[in-house]
Amino acid sequence: MSFVSHVECTICGHRHDAKRVLSVCEQCGQMLAVRYDLEQVNKHVTKEALRARPPGMYRFRELTPLDEDETPVTLGEGSTPLLALRRLAAHFGLRHVWGKDEGQNPTGSFKARGLGMAITLARARGATGFVIPSAGNAGGAAAVYAARCGLPCAVIVPRGTPPAAIAEAAIAGAKVFTIEGSIATAGKVVAKVAPQIGWFDLSTLKEPYRLEGKKTMGLELAEQLGWTMPDVLLYPTGGGTGLVGIPKGYEELRAMGWVGDPLPRVIAVQAEGCAPVVKAFHDGADTTAAWENPTTHAAGLRVPSPFAGRQMLKILRDTGGDAVAVSERAIQDAQRLLGRLEGVWTSPEGAALVAALGVLKERRDISADARVVLVLTGAGIKYDPPPLPPAVDLAGSDDDVVAAVRGALGV
Ligand SMILES: *Cc1c(COP(=O)(O)O)cnc(C)c1O
Repeated sequence: MSFVSHVECTICGHRHDAKRVLSVCEQCGQMLAVRYDLEQVNKHVTKEALRARPPGMYRFRELTPLDEDETPVTLGEGSTPLLALRRLAAHFGLRHVWGKDEGQNPTGSFKARGLGMAITLARARGATGFVIPSAGNAGGAAAVYAARCGLPCAVIVPRGTPPAAIAEAAIAGAKVFTIEGSIATAGKVVAKVAPQIGWFDLSTLKEPYRLEGKKTMGLELAEQLGWTMPDVLLYPTGGGTGLVGIPKGYEELRAMGWVGDPLPRVIAVQAEGCAPVVKAFHDGADTTAAWENPTTHAAGLRVPSPFAGRQMLKILRDTGGDAVAVSERAIQDAQRLLGRLEGVWTSPEGAALVAALGVLKERRDISADARVVLVLTGAGIKYDPPPLPPAVDLAGSDDDVVAAVRGALGV
């Protein structure tokens, strides 16, 4: 049974029929969001029933847009661990820091949740192929879920996209195109090509279902924290699907009476070389302006004109949040710090949160006993590593080798 009541424009409120193929609002062109009959959901599922279900994001089936009896296109995404980062917390003089390790998803990033859901729904509504502009991970995930349901996929990424994401799309049989510029340039091509060839346009938040996949992070976080919310949530912000999606999940749980706390302070973290949300937030603007010459090796943050700028800024302001930009150098240092202290090799985007935590603590913007969650969106192994000490090569006699090992270890 589906509990979707309708699909609604997040700006003008215009209602759309959820059974139709949907992209953006037909009235004003803004982002759509799925709405549920939460009273009915509450009658059909309990916290106890949920606990007994197998892992994965479809545990929360009643709060997904899946049609009755629909089998999702899945590779087992979701149910990622919420890791207590005690040594990292101590490093910053904090007591409660967790990392939601989204790098453990299929495809090595949380894009698996969004694209798995978007492709499940688009296929159910009759899509025969997919086109997606991407900074890397979204294209890889789209290709993988398209392969999983036997439909063709075309991925357009900027030149310089991390090779693992390109390989991931290619090995799943997608056609991959590169283009000069950023995801914004790729998006313009997709907007022209998709209607001509009749394939579904999976651009970030230009259809309402990717958000529902990302939302499941919020549902999981609430459950993993014993049906409470953290005080502070740091999110590495590109297109903002999780920044908008996680609070959406919390709001639905709150409307159902499953959690009582106010929303956490949401903190958008971006790279100094591409920080349209940070700039708009501090300028007091209602929406973001296109960022010229975006540069950062955190590919997922290289989004110069996010479609949901308006919605993100509202959430940051409504929750008393903030927006912080960090340097490339700080991201690399933070990536090594998290690896060394916790054994988690997170992506540069996730590492940006660790860098931002240092900034916020220094400014005394986070109290020592605040409960802080970092959304570690992807696995570091999908990117070129930061500069690291080289491996020590061993050669010569057994004695030479042993001496070299002891010398290098200093023991
Ligand atoms: C896409 C991506 C981001 C940015 O996510 P948005 O929802 O677009 O803001 C952050 N980290 C990684 C690893 C990503 O792939």
